Amino acid sequence: KPIKHRTVTIIGAGPAGAVAAALLKRKGHEVLILERQQFPRFSIGESLLAHCLEFIEEAGMLPAVQAAGFQIKNGAAFGWGDRYTWFDFRDKFSPGPGTTFQVQRAHFDQIMANEAMKQGVEVRYRQEVISADFSNSNPILTVRDLANSNIIYQVQSEYVLDASGYGRVLARLLDLESPSSFPPRKAIFTHIEDRIDDIQFDREKILISIHPQERGIWYWVIPFSSGRSSVGVVGKSALIAPLEEGSLATLRRLVDEAPNLKRILHNAVWDTPASTMSGYSANVTRLHGPGYALLGNAAEFLDPIFSSGITIALRSAKLAAEALHRQLSGETVNWETDFSQPLQVGVETFRAYVEGWYSGEFQDLVFYEKAQPGIRRMISSILAGYAWDTTNPFVAEPRRRLRTLSELCRQSPQR
Ligand code: FAD
Repeated sequence: KPIKHRTVTIIGAGPAGAVAAALLKRKGHEVLILERQQFPRFSIGESLLAHCLEFIEEAGMLPAVQAAGFQIKNGAAFGWGDRYTWFDFRDKFSPGPGTTFQVQRAHFDQIMANEAMKQGVEVRYRQEVISADFSNSNPILTVRDLANSNIIYQVQSEYVLDASGYGRVLARLLDLESPSSFPPRKAIFTHIEDRIDDIQFDREKILISIHPQERGIWYWVIPFSSGRSSVGVVGKSALIAPLEEGSLATLRRLVDEAPNLKRILHNAVWDTPASTMSGYSANVTRLHGPGYALLGNAAEFLDPIFSSGITIALRSAKLAAEALHRQLSGETVNWETDFSQPLQVGVETFRAYVEGWYSGEFQDLVFYEKAQPGIRRMISSILAGYAWDTTNPFVAEPRRRLRTLSELCRQSPQR
């Protein structure tokens, strides 16, 4: 088989791959990205958090993202029956950006990959990594060239970063998969022409709504700048799709069951088939090994509720790029203390709040009108993605803080 040689090979040109590649290239390393699909391609995950713009800026991609005309996002709103509340990311505990974007991922991911290419990263589309050999010090990936009669070739590198997202390439090939701590849930989603005319509806915030009777079912509305929105519903399969009615019909039926959504979307044009994803929560036994590290969704994915996926993916890209730069410069790197553990600080924060969301504790807290402004600012920080800021007590001790506050909510019910 023909063999190519590159210093670093990255599997996948999504946000994690593009940012890791650009950060390494900016430090002078030769980087190749192998991407199975042709961009632009659809991906789910359209609401960014404010913190992730810091990594996009560091990778030299912020001006291009800002120039693309994406919908500005400044917070998260929550609806449940006739209750409505919101958190503004500009009013938060941690320093850092207070606004971000809601993006059509096909366009956003294309911009990020193009920006990496402009900086000298080699991006090869329609190249599928099909096997991996880490038995010697310079790992070898076997690749199928989907653009060229499925020709098989190999790439040997000093290091491989797996940013293959739901492809989970190295987790599968190296037998690293481990079950998520979360039960399997399902998402049904589509894009609509929203025609929202409710004057109170805020296009600059993601709207998260809860099913009036079944608190385990929740919805997103993510408005784009084009007059269209992403709409989705999440819950255990048995709760949201027990009928054989087709995905779009299920989504529309469930939207109609939530009075606030039924009202807001009363004029919507449902012109696109719905897609489904299930069992997306996943984990791995380790985030790194000799010659490789796993980034973003190729490692662990928690849950979509806090839109934390891309922020975690970009944080992992930054930490891995820094560690790998030092290693390629001849330093000894401890990937456990320099990559895995620092990444887990924020992942564990989000994990605690995802658990709290589905137990109902965090939902109670979100709608707790008597919460002090200081506490709401700390929660706003986490919702904006600053889940690694351990000066925030809600990051330092998420479970204890959540428990204490939810007891308070229960002792002083609002109605
Ligand atoms: P991806 O963006 O998935 O990119 C991986 C790339 O690797 C793909 O382009 C793929 O083609 C390529 N690839 C795969 N296999 C191979 C192979 N064998 N060879 C070569 N290339 C390969 N996150 C948010 O931040 N905000 C949200 O609002 C949000 N909503 C979500 C809603 C749902 C229902 C779900 C399930 C997730 C949501 N997420 C959200 C999470 C988000 O989708 C991911 O966290 C994010 O896309 C991860 O980026 P990534 O770069 O790790 O992987």
